[in-house]
Amino acid sequence: MRIGLLTSGGDAPGMNAAIRAVVRQADALGHEVWGIYHGYQGLLEGDMALLPSRACANILQRGGTMLHSARCSDFHRLEQRAVAAARLKDAEIEALVVIGGDGSFRAAEALQREHGVACAGIPGTIDNDLPGTERTLGFDTALNTAVEAIDRIRDTASSHGRLFLVEVMGRSSGMLAVHTALACGAEAVLYPESTEDSYEHLLSQLNAAWLRGKQSSIVVVAEGDAEGGRAMAVGERLRRDHALDLRVVVLGHVQRGGSPTAIDRIWGSRWGCEAVRRLDRGEQGFYVGEMAGALVAQPLSRILEPQPVPPGDLGRMVSILAR
Ligand code: ADP
Repeated sequence: MRIGLLTSGGDAPGMNAAIRAVVRQADALGHEVWGIYHGYQGLLEGDMALLPSRACANILQRGGTMLHSARCSDFHRLEQRAVAAARLKDAEIEALVVIGGDGSFRAAEALQREHGVACAGIPGTIDNDLPGTERTLGFDTALNTAVEAIDRIRDTASSHGRLFLVEVMGRSSGMLAVHTALACGAEAVLYPESTEDSYEHLLSQLNAAWLRGKQSSIVVVAEGDAEGGRAMAVGERLRRDHALDLRVVVLGHVQRGGSPTAIDRIWGSRWGCEAVRRLDRGEQGFYVGEMAGALVAQPLSRILEPQPVPPGDLGRMVSILAR
């Protein structure tokens, strides 16, 4: 079997581990992998080449993706997805492995449903916001990167007795923000799915911390979709309304890069192997994942279900533990 492989959407540490595993497991089973460069854009342009086992040397420990990634607005159009299916047929590619997030899986789901392309998904996004899996590649690495950065900020925050708002990635998902806040002992966390009136709630939390004698505070803020980022907007408001001496730090793309943690390498490897083994058995239209520590697979259509929300008690725990 000839298998196509692409990475799409936001890059995430651990994608290379998955690429390596797909290529080598396929090789072990007598299949051939063609790398498609620059995600769905490259698929539309026919930008692909045979990926031999040796091409995957020395990538396991690297962040980013050796296949490059892209966003491709054309893929939202039915007729462009027909072009993609034709490209795969012309290249005699019988199955497509997609490493990416929610959008990338939606595209794969559409390709499978509309054109019968045999698709398999491997979760790769630092947001950890896919239904049917408790883990995605890159989340653990990004989390550790954010925690390390905030530990450093904490040193200066306590030396100067200051309030810091630290923005982490997550436009529509607070997973990274909530877990980061818990891991670095933040005084508060703001995230899109929170049911609290965040600004007012934040004020009362900061006041309470102050009254308890806290000299410095760190608030973790998920970026959200505010123009210029949510931390900036909240920081401006706090300065204007309360003349607070505060600092805003936007961690930004620092969180995306870097060497993947062992966890992300291991799951990238396991999922890469599993995806190929299932295709080898004739399965299609699925994505792999992890639930309660076990490797699972979900039908691709599951991607159309609502995204998971960070458990509310984790957010509440952040406040309780900040006492
Ligand atoms: P991620 O996979 O990290 O969530 P995006 O949301 O940017 O990243 O999606 C990656 C790409 O997948 C998009 O640029 C587009 O080409 C394709 N895509 C996203 N959503 C859809 C959709 N609903 N239908 C078809 N293609 C989609």
